[in-house]
Amino acid sequence: MTKKIGFIGLGAMGKPMATNLLKKGFALAVFDIRKDPLEELVSLGAKPAGSPKEVAEVSDVIITMLPSSPDVEAVILGKEGVMEGIREGSIVIDMSTISPTTTKKVGNVLSGKGVRVIDAPVARTVKAAVEGKLAIFVGGDAKVFESCLPILEAMGSDIYHVGGLGCGEVVKIINNLMLATFVSAISEGMVLGVKAGVDPDILLEALSKGSANSFALQNHIRNFVMKGDFREGLFSVDYILKDLGIALDMGKEFQIPLHQGSLANQLYQSVRAKGKGKNYYPVIITMLEELAGVQVRSKS
Ligand code: NAD
Repeated sequence: MTKKIGFIGLGAMGKPMATNLLKKGFALAVFDIRKDPLEELVSLGAKPAGSPKEVAEVSDVIITMLPSSPDVEAVILGKEGVMEGIREGSIVIDMSTISPTTTKKVGNVLSGKGVRVIDAPVARTVKAAVEGKLAIFVGGDAKVFESCLPILEAMGSDIYHVGGLGCGEVVKIINNLMLATFVSAISEGMVLGVKAGVDPDILLEALSKGSANSFALQNHIRNFVMKGDFREGLFSVDYILKDLGIALDMGKEFQIPLHQGSLANQLYQSVRAKGKGKNYYPVIITMLEELAGVQVRSKS
């Protein structure tokens, strides 16, 4: 495939995703407001650009992987943004997790300039991004989706076209609404079990054989909580709150009460108020541990 790709946003997810595109032989122009990841990508063979506008000028397909809705609006529609440099017939793939309303707004403006747009937010972890094994939920025109498949396959292993523009974001926000509530519910159960006298390792092994077993139990609890690993640089409390905020807005828009989501939102707000907004979001368990006076940690 000869298409030139531009990649904007080289963070925890964007850097390994862009690296995988380079490894698959795609020509890449890159931009980030931070110098370090930009230089790292350049050392791997990418061309640096000075702004999103410059990325758009030299690319057929522009990928954005940014924190939030205002960032995507600023990078695409703002000063020195993608919109100022993009050519008719180009494609924009936004892979950030943002509000479907923003996706449609940005998509409408870009399509007025003859640019095709798909939303392709990703699920799974930084590790999956490094391994090129992301799940990708794509919204937008089916033909544009098909033309972008080789690009998406360089970054993901499970790629689903889920509907029109914005539908990828809808699926992704639902994914994170569910995950946020699972992780807080599982944390509560683990803290109660340990307080009631069961050894944390035995509790985890026994529950792993029961019907409450889940990815969250095996990944978030086993691989992180049990090791006391809530480091920064993974998916943070701030980011899960961003996504819960979008879910709650969608609940208002569609008049669907979100009881669990509202509670999870308050629980994660509480752990952020304790100064843990940048930590990996299973850190929510520490708030319950403090209340109970126990810790859910492996002894092995
Ligand atoms: P991150 O904060 O690590 O990276 C964001 C990058 O965007 C940073 O390098 C930042 O410098 C850059 N950036 C911000 N504003 C910019 C601008 N105006 N111009 C150019 N670059 C700019 O975030 P991340 O973890 O890589 O997540 C990116 C998106 O993917 C978010 O929407 C997040 O919700 C979603 N996501 C994250 C994970 C995860 O595990 N971290 C998993 C799935 C989805």
